Amino acid sequence: MKVLLLGGTSESRALADRLIDCESLTVVTSLAGRVRDPLLPAGEFRIGGFGGAEGLATWIRDTHITAIVDATHPFAANISRNAEIAAEATHVPLVVLRRPQWAPEPGDTWLTASSTAEAAALVATWADRALLTIGRQGVDEFAHLDQTWFLIRSIDPPSGSLPRNHKLFLERGPFELESEIETMRRFRIDTLVTKNSGGAMTSAKIVAARALGVPVIMIQRPPTSNGPLVAGSVDDVELWLRSLR
Ligand code: NAP
Repeated sequence: MKVLLLGGTSESRALADRLIDCESLTVVTSLAGRVRDPLLPAGEFRIGGFGGAEGLATWIRDTHITAIVDATHPFAANISRNAEIAAEATHVPLVVLRRPQWAPEPGDTWLTASSTAEAAALVATWADRALLTIGRQGVDEFAHLDQTWFLIRSIDPPSGSLPRNHKLFLERGPFELESEIETMRRFRIDTLVTKNSGGAMTSAKIVAARALGVPVIMIQRPPTSNGPLVAGSVDDVELWLRSLR
């Protein structure tokens, strides 16, 4: 069995770690190549796009892939759509590993936005000092907001233009609760802007906002297809792969 593992997440690395010792199973993790110094998975990997759904289907055929696991980030909608199309075209079974979303708790103030642009519109009316943790992409949607000061945190420098009043923090998670609280206090953050990525690696900022009573502008996940099978954990994906053997 040869598995294509579409990666770029901590779950994909955990799955690669798990599968590396499985007999009669080879895993190739695929990374987009977005970050300069990616965390590499155990075992075989490749880096770079495939050239759309068609290119992915060709790669799957040429590489004799027999199962596909889409363990990409919940906001990476294009590669997930391509994986679904390519799986159908090649008749290779596909499972999507999807981490649960974060949810508000009683007392939390969450303003939900359906896009980065909508989040920027909310910031304009709401925030004086925002912690912006949406990754490298989409920060330019906030560039026109001259009245808000931003602490922008991402692994690599954001692409495109940045807001006039900002400080850039280039850091990679996981983040601890204490340091998140200390960051929000030190920079007098009054609003957290984030994507509903889910997962434990970066959830401390949500807990810190809760502890400090800081409102959250939460960008909702892009809509998902009802097509592919969805697994909620690395264990479930492993079981699914065993069922295919
Ligand atoms: P995207 O918009 O869904 O994908 C754009 C294009 O990048 C795809 O069409 C594909 O190019 C290529 N691509 C994406 N993921 C790939 C992968 N794992 N292997 C090979 N090619 C890939 O994706 P994105 O939002 O830019 O995210 C890129 C990667 O970063 C993903 O692997 C994702 O798991 C990871 N990531 C994303 C976020 C986020 O917030 N979006 C956060 C953390 C990690 P071709 O069409 O040429 O094949």
